[in-house]
Amino acid sequence: MQLQDKDRIFRNLYGFHDWRLAGARARGAWDGTKALIDNGPDWIIGEMKTSGLRGRGGAGFPTGLKWSFMPKNDPRPSYLVINGDESEPGSCKDREIMRNDPHLLIEGALLASSAMKAHTCFIYLRGEFIRERERLQAAVDEAYDARLIGKNNIHGWDFDIVVHHGAGAYICGEETALIESIEGKKGMPRLKPPFPANVGLYGAPTTVNNVESIAVVPDILRRGGAWFASLGLPNNTGTKLFQISGHVNKPCVVEEEMGIPLRDLIDMHCGGVRGGWDNLLAVIPGGSSMPMIPAHQCNDLTMDFDALVKLKSGLGTAAIIVMDKSTDIIKAIARIAYFYKHESCGQCTPCREGTGWMWRVLERMRRGEAEKREIDLLFAVTKQVEGHTICALGDAAAWPVQGLIRNYRHVIEERIDARHGAVKEAAE
Ligand code: SF4
Repeated sequence: MQLQDKDRIFRNLYGFHDWRLAGARARGAWDGTKALIDNGPDWIIGEMKTSGLRGRGGAGFPTGLKWSFMPKNDPRPSYLVINGDESEPGSCKDREIMRNDPHLLIEGALLASSAMKAHTCFIYLRGEFIRERERLQAAVDEAYDARLIGKNNIHGWDFDIVVHHGAGAYICGEETALIESIEGKKGMPRLKPPFPANVGLYGAPTTVNNVESIAVVPDILRRGGAWFASLGLPNNTGTKLFQISGHVNKPCVVEEEMGIPLRDLIDMHCGGVRGGWDNLLAVIPGGSSMPMIPAHQCNDLTMDFDALVKLKSGLGTAAIIVMDKSTDIIKAIARIAYFYKHESCGQCTPCREGTGWMWRVLERMRRGEAEKREIDLLFAVTKQVEGHTICALGDAAAWPVQGLIRNYRHVIEERIDARHGAVKEAAE
């Protein structure tokens, strides 16, 4: 199975062509946009529901349904906020959209906002995305100049876009922390409920969507929700940007159908696993927060939300980190644990204390200095963190550790045995 060119949405993913308005138009962007808006919000939301698009930011919530949660006839202004924070280690797709095909995002923002009766959209970029911000802002300026957006634009829906640059904190990718950050406060997640659809940015109804989720909207509406739904698998429809890094011969970002077998993805697009498929140790399938999948489960694995949940992992952002047999798997997970410890905002005790505690124990396990009974203790602590925090960072910190213990307990035990044996030998 390989995505046919005629079904490709991102036709300038690698920046080989003109990213500016003229180039985007030549690829079909901004074609008949007014007619799509004139069909009305119910039609747009209906097509999005028909498409089966599930949010591309990680949670996989149906996008059309999410839009329908925005209150109708509310006197407050509505906002669309686009999450371009992209701070999950391994994830690197949204930046390609913003720097190589920014008009897909801008047109998608206009269409989505008209469906939710929003006249203002904020695009939030992570702090490190300097060039992406420059290019996105230039494309927004082009759209203003061509009167595609702005007051009294040619589409008949007044619409402003604000490109907002964050300061580079992972937690600002969490939707409520992102909203706080736009408001000029520290990026700390809010307790939910109330959800942003009711009380979001500046206390007004807000929908937060991922960059990729919005960038595919124009194609879905132009070609029809049924076209998008015909790609991929049932309940896992459409195309998806997969990002493959780590121990493959050619790391890449590529658009493919949802549900593509992992092995096809790696062999067709990445030149295979370094040293061959048999040299595969494990993959992290959806960004660093997702539990790893060991090699023996990778042979027939399809890359979609449902298949990965069955294996107690998740598609996340579809950022696949490949690890071959040269990997020190305990060290790799300890490094991820350090990342989450560093990025915890510190509001919740299980996250603030638990992330550091997990990292310190993993560091001792990496050196073989722990006791075997601590493996179960560590697992128990991950369960105390998971689901007991304000936001999902607690889960994100706990899941990789659970994946390590579920699949590689024997490696931890062998490391402890080796260390204890060495200490005993030295003492004798
Ligand atoms: Fe902050 Fe962690 Fe609590 Fe999220 S889970 S609000 S990052 S302390």
